[in-house]
Amino acid sequence: MPRKIVAGNWKMNLNLIEGIELVQKINTTDTDVNVSIMVFPPSLFVNGIKEVNSEKVQVGVQNFHSEEKGAFTGEVSISQVKSVGGTIGLIGHSERRELFNESNETLKLKVDAAIQNDFGFIFCCGESLGIREAGTEIEFVKNQLEKSLFHLEADQIKDGIIAYEPIWAIGTGRTASSEQAEDMHREIRKMLVDEYDTETAGSISILYGGSCKPGNAKELFACPNVDGGLIGGAALDATSFCAIIDSFK
Ligand code: PEP
Repeated sequence: MPRKIVAGNWKMNLNLIEGIELVQKINTTDTDVNVSIMVFPPSLFVNGIKEVNSEKVQVGVQNFHSEEKGAFTGEVSISQVKSVGGTIGLIGHSERRELFNESNETLKLKVDAAIQNDFGFIFCCGESLGIREAGTEIEFVKNQLEKSLFHLEADQIKDGIIAYEPIWAIGTGRTASSEQAEDMHREIRKMLVDEYDTETAGSISILYGGSCKPGNAKELFACPNVDGGLIGGAALDATSFCAIIDSFK
C-alpha cells in the first residue's frame, strides 16, 4: 500500500517566527497517525524549523541544485540541505518549470542527484489549461514522467513520491473534480505498472495538488489512487492543514 501523505508547500510565504508557530501547532494537534506529514518551508528556514520540530513532521525544501557544490550563486545542494536536517525535496513544481525555466532534462539531473544522495523527493507533474482543453493531458504527463523519472530502476523509484498538480488548479481556487483527479492518478499508476511492475507501482504514493482544502480533501482522498495531497495556500494555516490531514478518516 502506498503511504498516505499530506505535504505543505509554503512557497515564498511566512517568516521564520510564523513558520515555527505553524509547525508547533501541527506538532501539538492530535492528527491521524496513519498520515505522513511533510512541510516545505523556504530552504533558509529548514534549520530553524528543525530545531522546534518533533519527529511528527518531515521537513524538506522546495528546490535544490543537482550539483554537489560549486559556483552556482543562489542555489543549495542536497548535502547542504541534509546538513541542516532536511530529508526531502520537491522536484519540478510547475512554478519552477514555468517561472525558472526548469526543463525535463534539468529535472532528470535533480532526480538522479536525489537518488545518489539518498534524499527523498516528490516529483511534480501536471498540465496547463490549454493542454487539458486540447484533451492531451495524459500524453503530456506521461512525457514529463518519461523524460525525467522513468529512467530509474524499480528499486530506485519505489520510495519516490509523485504529485499530480494540474496547473489550472494551482492557487486558482479551481480544483480538479475527484473524477478528474482519480482519472489521472489511475493513468499514472498504470504507467508505473507498464514501466515497472505492480508491486513497484503500488508502493509509490501519488499525491494530488491544486486548491485542495478542508472542504474538498475528503472527497479527493477517498479516490482509490489518490494517496494524499501537496497543499499550497491551505498549508499556511495550522487549522486548515490539520483538517486536511484528518480527511482520510
Ligand atoms: C502547490 O503549489 O503545490 C499547490 C497545490 O498550491 P494550492 O494548494 O495553493 O493550489
